[in-house]
Amino acid sequence: MTLKLSESSQGYQALQPDTLHRLLNIKEIYYEPAVNDYTRGQEILSEYPDAKLIEVASHWKIPELHGNSELVEDWNRIKRTVLVLGVKKSLQCRPNCRSSDFVAPSHANGCAIACVYCYNARRKGYANPITTFVNIEQIIRYLERHATKQGVKQEPNQVDPTYWVYEIGENSDCSVDAAICDNVKDLVALFRHLPHAKATFATKRVNRDLLNYDPQGKTRIRFSLMPQSMAQVVDIRTSSIADRIAAVNDFVEAGYEVHLNFAPVIHYEGWLADYEQLFRQVDDTLSPQAKQQLQAEVIFLTHNEELHEVNLGWHPQAEEILWRPELQEQKYSQTGGKNVRYKRGFKGQLVEQFCRQLRQQLPYCNIRYAF
Ligand code: SF4
Repeated sequence: MTLKLSESSQGYQALQPDTLHRLLNIKEIYYEPAVNDYTRGQEILSEYPDAKLIEVASHWKIPELHGNSELVEDWNRIKRTVLVLGVKKSLQCRPNCRSSDFVAPSHANGCAIACVYCYNARRKGYANPITTFVNIEQIIRYLERHATKQGVKQEPNQVDPTYWVYEIGENSDCSVDAAICDNVKDLVALFRHLPHAKATFATKRVNRDLLNYDPQGKTRIRFSLMPQSMAQVVDIRTSSIADRIAAVNDFVEAGYEVHLNFAPVIHYEGWLADYEQLFRQVDDTLSPQAKQQLQAEVIFLTHNEELHEVNLGWHPQAEEILWRPELQEQKYSQTGGKNVRYKRGFKGQLVEQFCRQLRQQLPYCNIRYAF
């Protein structure tokens, strides 16, 4: 792959080629035939002249990638070497309430990262490599119409006091998607000009190429944080926690709004002491400018029986921490899935302890929500 290095008046560096190579080394591209009709599709295909091309009827139905649980051992190899290109058929914005007001139609789904707790793997099968949607111009036109229709946001809410906020990374990690093509760059450019709307996404990867996108305060990045000792076990193929914290100042300086996403918070022996250290690291690292705009969201772990079974096949050590039936209870998700979360009273105590600690150490950081 030829790494896109944006010209930068500020002199920022893109994701380092060796780091990127460890994360993505595309050798096979599954594609819907219509991909060739789109400029973005042609651009991406020309980036990988040596990749093996495999035509598929639908990006959703690739049994050798999605339907085969025996691929679990190959999971990370597939994430690194396979890319799927498709056309997003149904364009809809879904109302949301916590991290955003709306969820935008996906420009991508799947992920080259392999967080053990990730629910995306459950939605689209096991290996779940990146699928990029090439009809970004249609997605942008749809979003423009949707945001225009909303008009001015009349009532401030915890999401944002002024702007309608659109989640653009619900099913992928935008920092990694940005290493494939300019979809994320185009979305950041769109929101820069929408008078009443702002984009947002959470990320676990630092891609400094994004520092050149000039968001002018209209994209909110939420860097996900957890103690490094836990991230080493469950956040596979992500940037280190120190790198994510260190990136906050640079992203604020480059015009992003930057919040912290403490998710998932996992309970284990000594968890609060580790968070105390993490908050100290945040406080010691962030610039006054970054602290002044800082907010956080806190989401305790939700796990899933089916995912637990899959993970036992490739990462049993993580399951000893994530799967704690004595501390967890079942809950049914909105989509009907059977999930588990920490038991009600117990979880209430954990949330309270976490928030108290955070407020004590980072008093300038508003907690937008915690559950
Ligand atoms: S970065 Fe996000 S989308 Fe990617 S594996 Fe982790 S949780 Fe899933």
